[in-house]
Amino acid sequence: MEIKRIPTEGYEEVYCATDERTGLKAFVAVHDTTLGPALGGCRMWHYSRDEDAVTDALRLARGMTYKSAVARTGLGGGKAVIVGDPKTQKTEALFRAMGRFVHTLAGRYTTAEDVGTNEADMLILREVTPYVSGLPRIKGGSGDPSPFTALGCFVGLLGAVEEAFGSDDLNGKTVAIQGVGNVGYHLGKHLRDAGAKLYVTDVNEQRLEDAAEELGATIVDPREIYSVDCDVFSPNALGAVINDRTIGQLKCKVVAGGANNQLAEERHGDALLERGIVYDPDFVINAGGIINVSVEFMPGGYDEEASLKRVHNIRQAMKDIFATARAQQIPTSKAAIVLAEKIVAEGRRKAASEGAEL
Ligand code: NAD
Repeated sequence: MEIKRIPTEGYEEVYCATDERTGLKAFVAVHDTTLGPALGGCRMWHYSRDEDAVTDALRLARGMTYKSAVARTGLGGGKAVIVGDPKTQKTEALFRAMGRFVHTLAGRYTTAEDVGTNEADMLILREVTPYVSGLPRIKGGSGDPSPFTALGCFVGLLGAVEEAFGSDDLNGKTVAIQGVGNVGYHLGKHLRDAGAKLYVTDVNEQRLEDAAEELGATIVDPREIYSVDCDVFSPNALGAVINDRTIGQLKCKVVAGGANNQLAEERHGDALLERGIVYDPDFVINAGGIINVSVEFMPGGYDEEASLKRVHNIRQAMKDIFATARAQQIPTSKAAIVLAEKIVAEGRRKAASEGAEL
């Protein structure tokens, strides 16, 4: 296997690995380890150009630094991408080679499942390197992150409701949930238990019917979900759902859900602010999953109770973001990045002063 370093400004380490025997072509980007070793998933995608794969790895690695910083996981940010079609080009030899690649970073980067990879792939990697997280509980890992992500979304949503309405009481409040998959369904249960009235939609009809019955929710057509007369719109399906087409349809006062990359473009954060809609930044509200994985790194290993306690910290993170957004008159989406960069800078100063004392 040939591993080449790609010097990249603003990133600690970026590598490209090519392995002729197995056909592996992969990149690992370590963005920042100030706060701890880098953690981030391993994506497999049929990128048409290598540049696109590197750009994706860099963008996602930086996102992981921000996400972990605000969630106070004690970890840094990194990401891996494998160039290839996950439907047709997966082999055991390829993932073993990927495991050897990850191992060369000696723990400065730990990988996990992501788009295009699954638990079975991670178990192959784990045979080659210990630097794999998020494995099933029976394999000593932290297991399915979704319930923790959903709990984080619930506490983050409560924070946004308090910011918008002056109280976090959900009795009588209406929430429109887009997507009742792993995250949306669990989130729906928390909301129902807290007294919210729910509207739900999903493109999977069976899942939608089952969820509506269990949650006592009203079913809405997927195209109608944006315009439901509700207090909270909760995206838990796709990215880029806050866009030029949907934003004018929203009747809610809060957008709070688990989906990644909810804003089609950065300016849509400004557009929400202009409309007086409180937005829970996606990478903060959906950090419950990574918080759960980070507990694997604690001395003594994974502990569910410790994880649940830490997920509740998302509420405070939201408070800090709302305060920053108000003070600087910027959208919460920008305030989240300001906060993340501040936390990393503080970590850097602390490390420097500790280094000077030695
Ligand atoms: P999932 O696949 O279990 O659920 C997504 C649901 O959305 C499915 O039921 C799907 O049918 C539905 N859906 C797809 N297109 C739709 C549309 N146009 N309209 C309505 N519904 C639609 O996925 P998940 O694990 O619940 O993740 C949901 C979102 O949260 C994703 O954006 C994911 O990246 C993000 N996320 C998940 C986790 C986690 O722990 N699972 C962590 C962080 C972020």
